[in-house]
Amino acid sequence: MNGNAMLPSGPPAPLPKRRNAVLRLYDAPVHRDWLFWTTVGWGVLAAISIPTSDEPTPPSPLPVWLDTLLAIVVMIATFGLLPAWLRLLYRRWRWHRRQRPAPVSAPRPNPASTPRSASAQPHASASPRPPVPSPRRDPATPPPPAADEPRPEAPGGGRRTPTASRHDLATSSVLAHMRESLPHPVARAVRSLQRAHTDRDRYEALLGTAEILAATASVTVAALLNHERTAGSGRADQESAGERNLAALRSAYTAKGVMFGTWTNWLGGLGPLAEARPGLVPGLRDALQDVPDDPGLVGHLNALREERNRAAHGDKPQSNQEAAVRVAEHAHHLERALERARFLESFPWLLTVSCSYQPRTRTYQVAADHVVGDHPDFERRTFTLDEPVGNDMLYLQTPDGPVPLSPFASAGFCSQCRQVEICYTYKAGRQEGHATLKSFTSGHDIPAPELAEEIRALPERARDGRR
Ligand SMILES: [Zn+2]
Repeated sequence: MNGNAMLPSGPPAPLPKRRNAVLRLYDAPVHRDWLFWTTVGWGVLAAISIPTSDEPTPPSPLPVWLDTLLAIVVMIATFGLLPAWLRLLYRRWRWHRRQRPAPVSAPRPNPASTPRSASAQPHASASPRPPVPSPRRDPATPPPPAADEPRPEAPGGGRRTPTASRHDLATSSVLAHMRESLPHPVARAVRSLQRAHTDRDRYEALLGTAEILAATASVTVAALLNHERTAGSGRADQESAGERNLAALRSAYTAKGVMFGTWTNWLGGLGPLAEARPGLVPGLRDALQDVPDDPGLVGHLNALREERNRAAHGDKPQSNQEAAVRVAEHAHHLERALERARFLESFPWLLTVSCSYQPRTRTYQVAADHVVGDHPDFERRTFTLDEPVGNDMLYLQTPDGPVPLSPFASAGFCSQCRQVEICYTYKAGRQEGHATLKSFTSGHDIPAPELAEEIRALPERARDGRR
């Protein structure tokens, strides 16, 4: 483990040496930089030697104090600043040389060995990877602001990695597209990420977006599975697979409540079902599929979850610089996870406003807000349906008609914010007691008594493990 940050007591660790942090020329802390002392030494020598030396043969026209000052400036510039500047140039050159081989070392997936992967992810090759360092395999490894790595903080050369990632996130075309096309909770989270002002905010927003993406993907798939189950149109043997997944979710709701890890585990458990019935949730199989050098949705989400856990367990970034480095290390995981979660675009979320029966056509006229995209003022749409829908409820819009997101996600009135918020169900009493919603955006808890029975009506995990 990365111990220092977690030790409760003991003397503080010595400050790490930060190269070229002072005036871009000297290392911080300066008293540990030999070139700083060299500069000081030459300055002192000049200050002492001029006034104490004999008069030069043609007497200097300048007063002694000006002579001394000039001598100090010349000495410091020649024997202090110039070497420090040359050292900076050398370090930049060495740093660039070390950076260059990094992208080459990550081999592209071999198309011959993974015939399915090529068709499985049409977006993979289209979008360039951000120029971030390859993620570290070992989550316990401390991040790079290592004392020995030359990271001159100069424009053009310095802090290349974090700066690049910030610009990539802010201008990423993948993220811009997702802000338009994904269900509102994720789109809004991506917006906050792109608009974050500081690297620490960006770090928090990155991990928050990952969790919201995991939750949104999970509740969408859960709603489709539950609809399939209650509609009873599946084949008997396969349907039990979906029931097992729903039962796992029910257990989580009625135990500690659902968390980031619940979602990633649950999504991971969908693999066999997605393989067996790829048509059940179109795009899910491709989303989950691991290919060499590019894990599926769950792999990328788990990398982000491990980082979230690391921060939650006391190892938060201690500075904006560290936050920037850790964002740079994980930004591509979020981009790839969002790309893998593109199947969500096929299931827009709707929040029903009204539903009225049309006797003449024997249909229902439904007005619903299109809960898609990052803007909180949802576009209102009207539909003509054969079946009625409930008011103020979340639905997935599918080619076969609306699919209720309840009991997995719903709109709840938050008494703290005094507004309706889009929420996911967080937990429910095992035998009795109400259910609790959590707002996607604020994280506020909202009681939802009416949902508890619906949660408990989900398939139960059989004791003999049959389901
Ligand atoms: Zn609230």
